[in-house]
Amino acid sequence: METMKRTTTCGALSKVDAGKTVTLNGWVHHNRNHGGISFISLRDRYGTVQVVVDEDSPAELAALAAELKNEYCIAVEGLVRERPASMVNPAMATGEIEVLAKKLIILTKCEVLPFQIEEESDAKEELRLKYRYLDLRSGGMQKRLKLRNDVTFAVREHMIGEGFYEIETPTFMKSTPEGARDYLVPSRLYPGKFYALPQSPQLYKQILMVSGFDKYFQIARCYRDEDARGDRQPEFTQIDIEMSFVDRDDVLSMIERLFGHVFRKTLDVQLPGTFRRLSFDDALELYGSDKPDLRFDMKMQDFGPYVEKSTFQAFKDALANGEAERLANAVKGITVSGGGVKALVVPGKADYSRKQIEELEGAAKIYKAKGMAWMKVTPGADGSGALEGGASKFFADNATAVISGLGAKVGDLILLVADSKRRIANIALGAVRTKLGKDLGFCDPARFEFAWIVDFPMFEYNEEEQKWDTAHHMFTWPQEKYQATMETDPGSVKGDLYDLVLNGFELASGSIRIHDPVLQNRVFRLVGFDPAEAEKRFGFLTTAFKYGAPPHGGIAPGLDRLVMLMAGETSIKEVIAFPKNSFAVSPMDEAPNEVDQKQLDELHLSIRYPEKK
Ligand code: ASP
Repeated sequence: METMKRTTTCGALSKVDAGKTVTLNGWVHHNRNHGGISFISLRDRYGTVQVVVDEDSPAELAALAAELKNEYCIAVEGLVRERPASMVNPAMATGEIEVLAKKLIILTKCEVLPFQIEEESDAKEELRLKYRYLDLRSGGMQKRLKLRNDVTFAVREHMIGEGFYEIETPTFMKSTPEGARDYLVPSRLYPGKFYALPQSPQLYKQILMVSGFDKYFQIARCYRDEDARGDRQPEFTQIDIEMSFVDRDDVLSMIERLFGHVFRKTLDVQLPGTFRRLSFDDALELYGSDKPDLRFDMKMQDFGPYVEKSTFQAFKDALANGEAERLANAVKGITVSGGGVKALVVPGKADYSRKQIEELEGAAKIYKAKGMAWMKVTPGADGSGALEGGASKFFADNATAVISGLGAKVGDLILLVADSKRRIANIALGAVRTKLGKDLGFCDPARFEFAWIVDFPMFEYNEEEQKWDTAHHMFTWPQEKYQATMETDPGSVKGDLYDLVLNGFELASGSIRIHDPVLQNRVFRLVGFDPAEAEKRFGFLTTAFKYGAPPHGGIAPGLDRLVMLMAGETSIKEVIAFPKNSFAVSPMDEAPNEVDQKQLDELHLSIRYPEKK
């Protein structure tokens, strides 16, 4: 086959190259014919350039040019020349020049395309994933994968610069489910035994600390077999980090330096030197979320103080029932927060229609709110403000105190959610706040508002199984002051846990770890592993801890999410070359697939299909 190897790339050409003969390899982006002249827009990874086959060209060349269809892969040799002033295209990086073709060969042809290659494809997601190789040719996907490459490089550059070692940990490990289901790999050599794909390198990175590698990182692939929910992928990538002889603030400031470097280097964005910190309790009280979007303020307020003087029985009941639940639980040693009534003042939105308010209520109901009350602040008789509409009649005697207490102004809308579980009131109204942020255009994708959420509860009560679970993972250090009463009042224990949030997304989770085998075994027992079971599952970790384990801690920012937010996207599929669809299937190669009986026999497996419904 005749080939013409490229001497340069499409995006590299400019006015200074005028007069040079070059060879280009690339794809036909468009081919237009005007009065016998072919204008071929030729594209490669580096850009697009106009190739011209004019009327003076040999007939053979002109005929070949006329044959070119979109996405043919071709080689062209030609002369770079400046375009006449009237033909300059300022929208194109190479718009001041064109290449006059002298020789052209078709390297390969392209069949009828399932969709056109645009800057951003508007084809259906399933089609984009089936023909991902074509989708990846789009300008947007090319840019995003470049950004991902640049971010990964900047991470390595910074981490190695700070003295971290990048160490690979196994992708075949012992199954130690960390919360999600493991992906299992059957062992051929040991019938009935399985490897698990890691949900994260957590245990290995902690063991590396025992080994004395006191600063470790890895761009690590993690696997979790969870039901399709939101924007999840069965496999995803974390920037996995662990450090010895550190406290929480050391880990936090290391990440602030890392992100500062990555954003400066790849986006030319200067982040603040330190990120604000919020306790988990405050995040829930003020924003109704442990991953608040802080691109806008709109804090929630406690409406409890106004309930007693009102005539609103539903609110009074929520608080009274909550208090009764709190007391009943306290007797059992379970700490719960009681009831709550929360308010959100939406500036200038007293003109919201009933339908708009109902839509907001819908968001609250998704998070288990029984309903959402509202009132509008109107000028009133003397212009100083009155409450009108919705629940206002219940607060008639106390309107001035409500308005001034909440800091509301004439023209504002007040939204209220009450529940006997304060957490539900918080989270439901928080969902309303998040929706309002989007509806009101407060979520500029080019703004990056980072925050640390700290002091998370160590344990959460699992109502279904009537037992305590760890909120993050079982290797988290319970804060010193709670250790003595950990078993008697698990609900009040705070872990040395931290999350990094960005624009309403959880970007990283981490913690200071337990390094004492006795304390580790207490946590195992509390979450329901008897000593024999704990030994069977995690004995290798607690045994390692018996050989001089250093105090240590770490964190794991999600790379996919980070790049997604940096690219201003809302789905991680936009920054992963070959993602699965929302049903954990790859439409391109059709994974997962059935395998031959021979393969199953070798693995000592037989399949029991679920009965058809
Ligand atoms: N291994 C943890 C996770 O994947 C992160 C960490 O604690 O470092 O969530």
